[in-house]
Order: sequence, then structure tokens, then C-alpha cells
Amino acid sequence: MTAFRKNLIDGEWVGDAGSRNINPSDTGDVVGEYASAGVEQAGQAIAAAKAAFPAWSRSGPLARHAVLKKAADEIMARKDELGRNLAREEGKTLAEGIGETIRAAQIFDFFAGETLRLSGEVVPSVRPGVGVEITREAVGVVGIITPWNFPIAIPAWKIAPALAHGNTIVFKPAELVPESAWSIVDILHRAGLPKGVLNLVMGKGSVVGQAMLDSPDVNAISFTGSVGTGKRVAAASVEHMRKFQLEMGGKNPLVVLDDADLAVAVDCALNGAFFSTGQRCTASSRLIVTEGIHDRFVDALKERMEKLVIGDALDAQTQIGPVVDATQLKQDEDYIAIGVREGATLAFGGERLDRKTPGFYLKPALLTEATNAMRSSREEIFGPVASVIRVQDYDEALAVANDTPFGLTSGICTTSLKHATHFKRNSEAGMVMVNLPTAGVDFHVPFGGRKGSSFGPREQGRYAMEFYTTVKTAYTFAG
Ligand code: NAD
Repeated sequence: MTAFRKNLIDGEWVGDAGSRNINPSDTGDVVGEYASAGVEQAGQAIAAAKAAFPAWSRSGPLARHAVLKKAADEIMARKDELGRNLAREEGKTLAEGIGETIRAAQIFDFFAGETLRLSGEVVPSVRPGVGVEITREAVGVVGIITPWNFPIAIPAWKIAPALAHGNTIVFKPAELVPESAWSIVDILHRAGLPKGVLNLVMGKGSVVGQAMLDSPDVNAISFTGSVGTGKRVAAASVEHMRKFQLEMGGKNPLVVLDDADLAVAVDCALNGAFFSTGQRCTASSRLIVTEGIHDRFVDALKERMEKLVIGDALDAQTQIGPVVDATQLKQDEDYIAIGVREGATLAFGGERLDRKTPGFYLKPALLTEATNAMRSSREEIFGPVASVIRVQDYDEALAVANDTPFGLTSGICTTSLKHATHFKRNSEAGMVMVNLPTAGVDFHVPFGGRKGSSFGPREQGRYAMEFYTTVKTAYTFAG
């Protein structure tokens, strides 16, 4: 077990009473013990962030660059250790945990660079003798609320641009994954952030998160999580007239056309639907397959699923780790049962697995003969469960792909330039993939979706600036 991890408020590590998190691959293994903040500490963190804002927002690019670059370098140097901790607390495989940690380092590196690339505009006024300057300023105190499924990358892609653009932060990570959150804050704190600039408040969403939503001193909230919580963030933010950004669920379609390269399509489906135990907002949970390739595709996918190694996340051979906790495991099983009740066929998997240690192991499940109207095809399951929906042709595939309350990612496997181009233009999703899994994105380009998946400006890359800055237009009369 790690040492007792405290919250960081105004540059001090504080907190005594705590909660434990356990390893989903081995429920007897306690990963660590963590302080649990209450409403009062959340208030102190917000006050500290507010007090630190004037100096940090005027600190200039070099100070911010130094901290972000140092953090990037330390995360990269410790990628194996941090990646292992992540896999141990969340259940994704060791390779995925290390990969995500490298991603976090790359994000800090990118935003270190962004501090030196800030720009503004000087434009002539329509009035003689007047000049106009357009600049960007920090927004203020930013509340950052994150989910459990990317314990280091999501905090990184919110904290890094917030700091780069001169904001101060109150960070509330998901209860299930405090170790990765604590580590990233510890690294940034030691990298030289002034006190109060970044505050960590681990604790319950309904307490600490809610206190952030209710505070008039939080000027912006960046949230990633479920649709239900996202709506609360939105309602509270409108009440306070604050800026907010939501990244929520997905029910992402992967279309497979008759002319697809079968091996590519099966690779995309296997990776997109089941890797990271299907616990990705970008997972391919609806496989929409045209009649001519349907049976060959299902047979080939089942063959590959049979070979998947499901086991302890820390075991080097493991390809699919456990589900994150008992609640999520039950949700996955419930949705498989709902799909079957509604008329789908459980063509593969779906049962719990026993391994050397007690854990939340589930054999990835494939529902075939599903329709797009079934609850299992419309609601986010967030586990290693995919539904195959049979369609006649491309036009029906596109219509089914777009017939969803979500719009995060979508994909198509085809060798037809015409269909690939048409799909890119007509898919109602924020991110579209051709002959690639729906999950797996670059860190230097915009991330986000449409409809029930996202609200507000995009995250990541240069586009992150839209959320973490506010535009000022200044006029000067010089005679
Ligand atoms: P969740 O909504 O339960 O929790 C997200 C965060 O909100 C947690 O930190 C939680 O403590 C906090 N929270 C809970 N109640 C709150 C309240 N009343 N006020 C303020 N904060 C509160 O989501 P989760 O189960 O942690 O994550 C899974 C969800 O996240 C899935 O729906 C998934 O699709 C989504 N997700 C989306 C993206 C994306 O970018 N679109 C990425 C990853 C995960």
C-alpha cells in the first residue's frame, strides 16, 4: 500500500480521514488510502485558487513553460511506475496504463510549448485615429471534474491548458482513481507551482463536486463524466452564469461495408469495442454491418475474441483487464440481459470469469441480430459489450449510425473513396475515423462531440484555448 495521500490546498498537504481504493484485478489488494475533502475544504481550495489568480495570470509565459515542461519530463521519466499504478487502480492493462501515462507527458509538453505561442491581433478600427487590439486573458478559477476511465490523461488534458493560459485550478478527480490524480498534482507542485495555483480536493462528487458547482467563485468548469452529472454541471453553471464544458457519453457506431478489408474491419472492431475493457467514451459499441459481409465479419470477430487474453491488468500477457468495479460489472451484465430480452442473440461471451485472484473479470460480449431500437443499442453500457446491427446498404448504415442521442466518434471500414468521403461529411459525430478504430486519438488536435456527448468548446490541441481564455477587445484613440 502507498502512504496516506493528502489533499493539496493553498500549497499545503492536508486531510486526515480517508477512503481506500482497491485493485479491480485483485480485490484483496488495497492500492492506497486517500484524504476525503468535505464542503469546508472545497471552499478553502476555491478561496486559495481565487487568491492565487492575480499573480499567476500575470506570471508570463516563461514561468508557466518551466513548470509544465518539468512536469512533462518527470511524468515521462516515471512512465513505467505511474503506468503500473494506473493499471493497478483502474484495471486497464499495463501497456495501456503506460501508454496513457506517456500521453499525459506529451500533453504537458505540448502545452508547455503553447505558453510560448500565445498571440493576439492588432487591427485597424473603422474610426480614424483609433487602434484595436484583440487579446486573450485567463478565465479565472477553473473547476476540473474528471471520471475514472482515463485517470491520468483526462486530468492532464484539462490541467495543462488551464495552467498554460494562466488560470488557477480546483481539481476533483473520480473517487475510484485517486492515485494517478494525486501523482500528477504532486509532480506539478514539486515542479514549482506557486501555492494556491493548483488545488486537489479528492472526495465524493455529491459533496466536493457539488460544492464546486455551487460556488460563485468558480469561474469555469471543465467536466468529463456521465450525462446525468453533466446536466447538473450545466444547470448549476447557468445559474452562476459561468463558462462550462462537458464531455460525456457515447454510443459510437462502426460501419462495416461489403467492400471493407475484412482483416482491417475486424481489427478496428476488436480494438474499438473491447480494448481498455470497453470503458472508453469513444468505444465502438454499435457495429453496423452490411448484409454481404455480415456473417464473415461476425465469424472472424468471434474467432479473434476467443483468443483474447483476459486477466490481471498487471500481467504482461493480459490484453483485456477487469471491469473497474462491482457496480460497473453489474451494469454490463444487466445490459447484456436487456439486449437478450429485447431479441438480440448473445453470440459470444458475457459471463464472469474466475482468475487466480478475486476480481471483476468479464468475458467480452457480442450481441448479434440487434436492432438500433433496443435499449442496449441506445444507452451507453461502458463495458466490453458490442452489438452487431445488420443493414442492407450504405444508406441504411449511415442512417442507423446517426440515429442516436450521442455524437462523439464514428467510424467506417470501406475501400470505397465515395463512401468514405460521404461518411466523413455526413456522420453526425465530432470525430470520424476511416479504416481506424473509433477510439484512439491524437493529442494535438481537437477532441469532442455533438448532441448528448459534448457541450461547449473542444478540448486538446490549440482549440483548448477557446475554453481556457476569454477574449478582450481594446480600443485606443491616438489622435
Ligand atoms: P460520473 O458522472 O459518475 O462522475 C464524473 C465525475 O463527476 C466524478 O469525479 C464524480 O465524483 C463527479 N460528480 C459526481 N456527482 C457530482 C455532483 N453532484 N457534482 C459535481 N461532481 C460530481 O462519471 P464516471 O462514472 O466517473 O465516468 C464515466 C462516464 O464518463 C461515462 O459516461 C463516459 O462516457 C464518460 N466519459 C466521457 C469522456 C468524453 O470525453 N466524452 C471521456 C471519458 C469518460
